[in-house]
This record gives sequence, structure tokens and C-alpha cells, in this order.
Amino acid sequence: MQEKALSSDPADGRSELRIPATAVSRGIGIGRAVFLNGDRPAPIRHDITQDGIEGEIERLQQAVQHSLYEIIELSSAPTPDSAADIFGVHSLILESSSLIPDIETEIRSQLVNAEWAIRTVSQDYSTRQRAAADQHISDKYLDVIDVADRLLNALCGSSDAPDGGSDSVLIVTELMPSRLMKLAKTAPKAIISEHGGWTSHSSILARELKLPVVTGVRNIERLIAEGEAVIVDGNNGEVILHPTVDSITRFSESSNGPILSDGILTNGDRKVETKDGVEVIIRVNTDSPLNYQQAKEQGAIGVGLYRSEAIFDRKGSFPSEDEQFVAYTQIAAATGDAGVRIRTFDVGVGQLSGDDRVIERNPSLGLRSIRLSLTDQRYFRTQIKAILRASYGNTLDIVLPMITGVDEIIRLREIIDDEKYGLRAAGVHIGEPLLGAMIEVPSAVLTANEIAQNVDFLCLGTNDLVQYLLAVDRDNESVADWYQTLHPAVIRSIREVIDAANQTNIPLNVCGEVAGSPFYTPLLLGLGARELSMNVNSISYVRRLISGITCKEATQLIDSITSCVTAAEIDERLRSHYLANWSELFPPGLLSANNL
Ligand code: PEP
Ligand code: MG
Repeated sequence: MQEKALSSDPADGRSELRIPATAVSRGIGIGRAVFLNGDRPAPIRHDITQDGIEGEIERLQQAVQHSLYEIIELSSAPTPDSAADIFGVHSLILESSSLIPDIETEIRSQLVNAEWAIRTVSQDYSTRQRAAADQHISDKYLDVIDVADRLLNALCGSSDAPDGGSDSVLIVTELMPSRLMKLAKTAPKAIISEHGGWTSHSSILARELKLPVVTGVRNIERLIAEGEAVIVDGNNGEVILHPTVDSITRFSESSNGPILSDGILTNGDRKVETKDGVEVIIRVNTDSPLNYQQAKEQGAIGVGLYRSEAIFDRKGSFPSEDEQFVAYTQIAAATGDAGVRIRTFDVGVGQLSGDDRVIERNPSLGLRSIRLSLTDQRYFRTQIKAILRASYGNTLDIVLPMITGVDEIIRLREIIDDEKYGLRAAGVHIGEPLLGAMIEVPSAVLTANEIAQNVDFLCLGTNDLVQYLLAVDRDNESVADWYQTLHPAVIRSIREVIDAANQTNIPLNVCGEVAGSPFYTPLLLGLGARELSMNVNSISYVRRLISGITCKEATQLIDSITSCVTAAEIDERLRSHYLANWSELFPPGLLSANNL
């Protein structure tokens, strides 16, 4: 696989070291450690030839244009005056200062890539500025660093240079979904991240990509150096440093195929039902027509959750109405009558404005999701127009995220109706998408009956529901022990919401990560769930579980846990029932793993 053997050299005297980690995406990865600096790799120097100069300058100019565009977008969003001043300074630096000409000169004279030239020149500028006697000038050195960072970020998107390579195990501080998508293109063996939980969006994406990822590993740079061998065990949650030849052989054997078989039900028999004939509809969570095709082959009927903010991640900025129209039409064409549910942008103010540095003290509780749609309606209206146009002749519905009560639905519906009216008045053909609400906030659980009367369907978002119900950050691995999906309050909430949907006679789709883990399948069936939406790679496992049990047994199992008062007790009851009755239905190792 590599020029040099991967095992540790016994002569260096270091013995194998096993570090516990949180497994968030299963699988085994063996490769060489590559440290990525935060969310972006540190600039690396590449020497170029005379012929390469114009290409690098072109890349630089594109990064300048991209950065200016970002700054304009940022300044047009509601921002404090001080921020507007800073954006003004940053535009001036990009357009009128000597920074960019000097970077160009650096590329030409030193024959280096744009990233390296930006780094060298901006460091030089900021050092000189910091040393200035006039404090007004010296204080401004951060602006140059800021602009250089923005340029480097822009280049990161346009660079063809691989981040790690196909034999790498990438080590990052934190992984954003957009970054993960770029990294995945270079097919690394695995990723080790300091931060991130099982329901973090990057972890969800990694599972979809079948890329082993573990989190919660700190200060690993003190224990290994760049290029050294490392094994990531994403099944048991372990990182193995300085692995012995034996370990490498053993783990290589288990990594030769997926640790979990891909399931047994790929025969096109689309109907999924329990042994006692209760039908369960399986949908897929995806924004990719290709993924849908695979999911369909495994029995999925439609897309249950299209996280539309994925279009941001692909594009790196706000997608236009036409870009969205194309994306929605493509997925609708792939799903046909089975349909697709587009969740409107579930992003924070920083992501919407394209600037991660718009810091909110408490982003999960802040100006995000439909709160942002109601506060600054432009983006929401653009999205709704795109959805309405794409829904013409297609089965394409709308899901509203982070609903806390009926009033928001009423206000959002007014905006949707207004856009319908406008489009019709302009002679544009539109469809009649159904409207659904995500139930993922405790207040929505407690008013689920009223919400159900105001929408056409409900989507149960357990990832956020656990976070908000138990006041535990889903992205923070240090509180992972408090993120208890089996907490009695979570189970009661799920039951309440399912009952509300049944009483109102509207469909309910469970679309959080619990829907895709076979461990929770009997629980959800026993609580009355009949529609589950999950990652494409989970479908065959969940199908196997559903087809192997009766709904009656699942209901009895749930009845038997209602007296339990802790998550640990419920976990224990489920696990022992599974081991005694259904162990062959679960993927190997799942029932003994701590991480589901
Ligand atoms: C959820 O919260 O359960 C959900 C499905 O949405 P997301 O993971 O995107 O927040
Ligand atoms: Mg959510």
C-alpha cells in the first residue's frame, strides 16, 4: 500500500498505544497521520515553474473576487456599524492596498503557489504593522490576517491539491460538513477529530460516505508525528498509535470489507413489513439523486429529509433561486411519485451570511433556522420560490425546521402563500407542496396536537430533540454521556408526538439518527412509528430488523420498559432482550458496542 511499511519500527522502542475515542462513523482505517490545521490545512509551499505563474495569479484573482463577494454579502446582512466599518476596511485592503500586487510579485519572483505567497506576504505585512509606533496602525494588523485567512479559505475551495491523500488518516480539531465533503474526495482512510458527537452533521455525513471517524481525541500531536502509522477503529472507538505488525495485519483483515455486511435485502422487494404484517415505510435522508437511486434499490420510498443547507456546503455561499430550482428539480425527478421533503434552511446566522466568524454566544439557541427565515425573509422567500417552481408536476413538499409553536407555522404559511400569489400573478407554474413541521424542540412536543392540526405531516427530529430536551450539546463530545437517547423523557416525548399524529390522522416520519440505527428499531416500532427516514447505508440493517420481529413483540418490549426510570436501565432491558431473542438480526458487534 505504501512505499514504507506501516508498522512502528520496534527499534525505536515505542510500544503500541491505544487511546479510547468516541466512534461516530463505523469502519476501520489504517494509514499515515496527516495533521490538518483546524478546519483548513496550513498552507504548504509548492514550487511552480514559469509556465505555472499565470495559473497561480488567476487563482489568486478568483480568490480576491470571491472574498469581495463574501464581504458584500456580509455587509448586506444585518450587522452592527462596527462590523460594517471592518468590512469596508477589508474591501479596501483587497481592492486598493499593495497587498495583492505584492502577493503577485511574490508568486512571480519566488515561483511559489498562491497560498504560500499569501502567507509570506501577509505575515510580513502584519509584522511590520504590529511594530508601527502609531497604535492606530499597529492595532490594525489583525485585519490583514483576517483578509489573508479569507483568501486562503477561498483558495481552499479552488485548490486541486489533495489534503491528505488516499493512504492518510486525517487529524483535525473540528470537522465542518463542507470540509468533510472536500476531504472525502481524496479518499482518506479515516478521520480523527477532537470535537463532534454522534449526531453532529459531519458524523451523519461521514456515515453516509462510509468513512470511519472517531472523535474526542485530544493532543494526539504530542504522541505521534506527521506521517506515522495509525489505526482508527471506528467500530469500537479506539485509536491505535505505533501499531505492531500483528495489529496492522489483524485490523487490515477486518477492514478488507465493510465490517458490517451490507445487508441481505437488495432484491427489489420494496415492501417492508414485520413478521405480523405491519408495514413500515422507509425513506432516505439525502440531497443526492445518486444516493436516492441506491436507497431505492434497497427499498426506500422517497426522500424523507432533504437538508437543503447541503447546497450551501457544496457551493460555499448562498445558492441563487435558479441554482436551488435545479437542485430541487433533480432530486424530484429522481424520486418521482415517491416524493421528496425539502427542509428549509436550518442554518445559523453565521452560515447564512457566509461568515463563520459571526459568533453567537449560544448558536443552538440563537438566530437560526426558521427564526432567521422570519427575521430576514429574503433567503426564505428565495428558497420558497425555488421550491414552488420545482414542485410544478413533482411531488415535492416543504418541511419547517425548529418549530417551537403554532404561531411560527401561521407566519411562515403566510409568507409561502404570499410567494404563491406572486408567482401565479407572474404567470409562473407552481405546484401545491404539502407543509410539514419538524418536531425537535420540547415546546413542539408539548403542543404537538395543535401543531399537527396546522400541517399536513410531522417529522420527528430526534437529534435535536435529545439535545434540547436534555440540555446537552449534540456536537460536544465531552457531554456525550449526557446525550441519552434512551432517557425516559425522550421515550415519552416520542410517544406523545406519535400519538398526536395518529389522533390528528396525519403521517409522522422519524428522521433523526435513531431511525437509522437498528438498535432503536424495535423501540420505535413499539412506540407506534410506521415511517422511518435514514441514511442510505442504514436501510438494509433496519429492514432486516423490521422483517425479523413482530410488532406485537416490540409493543410488549416497550410496555416492559415503561417502569424504568433511567436510560441505563432501559438500555440494559433492551440489550438483554435483543441478545436473548434477536441477536442474529443485529450487525455483528453492535450489541456489545458503547457507541451506536
Ligand atoms: C434532527 O434534528 O433530528 C434532524 C433530523 O435534523 P438535523 O440532524 O439536521 O438537525
Ligand atoms: Mg434538527
